[in-house]
Amino acid sequence: MAKKCIGVREDIGEPCQRPASGDSDFCWLHKQQEGDMKILYLQDDVYHCPDDGQKLLYVPRWKEHKCDMCKGFLLNAKEIDPMLLESILTLPEVTEEGLAVECPTCSTDSDLSDGETPLSNFAAEWHLLSKGKIGFVPIETSYYGVSKIGHCKVCGSTWFPSPGERDALGKKVGWKALSLWRNAMRSTDLFGKQQQSSLREGRKRAEAKKCQHVDSNGKRCTDLKVHKYGDFCFRHRQKR
Ligand SMILES: [Zn+2]
Ligand SMILES: [Zn+2]
Ligand SMILES: [Zn+2]
Ligand SMILES: [Zn+2]
Repeated sequence: MAKKCIGVREDIGEPCQRPASGDSDFCWLHKQQEGDMKILYLQDDVYHCPDDGQKLLYVPRWKEHKCDMCKGFLLNAKEIDPMLLESILTLPEVTEEGLAVECPTCSTDSDLSDGETPLSNFAAEWHLLSKGKIGFVPIETSYYGVSKIGHCKVCGSTWFPSPGERDALGKKVGWKALSLWRNAMRSTDLFGKQQQSSLREGRKRAEAKKCQHVDSNGKRCTDLKVHKYGDFCFRHRQKR
């Protein structure tokens, strides 16, 4: 039986299912990955998602390890833009009880550390504006949230945890918003002090406009308040 290609899909990191061609370890499509040391050693460099334990996939196009389950991603010390890292480290550090997760890189490589290496967490506000059209009518959807970016002081890896299924206002985060979020996390212009405080104010303002009802599953109502019903929407107005 022919050996399988050891390459991965450039865009999503999934292992290739094609047979390797000739005496190469790769198929014709992934021949270009032949010189990539990262790919040659993928089987030895297995990282797991610190949030759900899934095996992370290495995505060559973005030079990142991504969790296919929650969509969080990891940039190691060599992969991250130094400017980006510098700005992340100026964000306010969060030290919540029970928040600390172990560094996915250190927990794999016992040469780096013995014992536990929890990530330090930095709070990053974000706002995404998704532009689309219904027929000819342009529509804009806003998403707000705070990501607790984890950084390992031992090996320099940085973990960007998933924005979750819903944003801070309870709006469902679809694939389009998710890709905007990924771009936002990789761009330095989000993390300045002034930018962060105006993002925080924007989120607070948007939150204040929302109905305050929370259902039994802890899910917040996504409708707007109606002035005459006080803090609630029409559906959740309080009967007097
Ligand atoms: Zn292949
Ligand atoms: Zn995950
Ligand atoms: Zn580490
Ligand atoms: Zn409501």
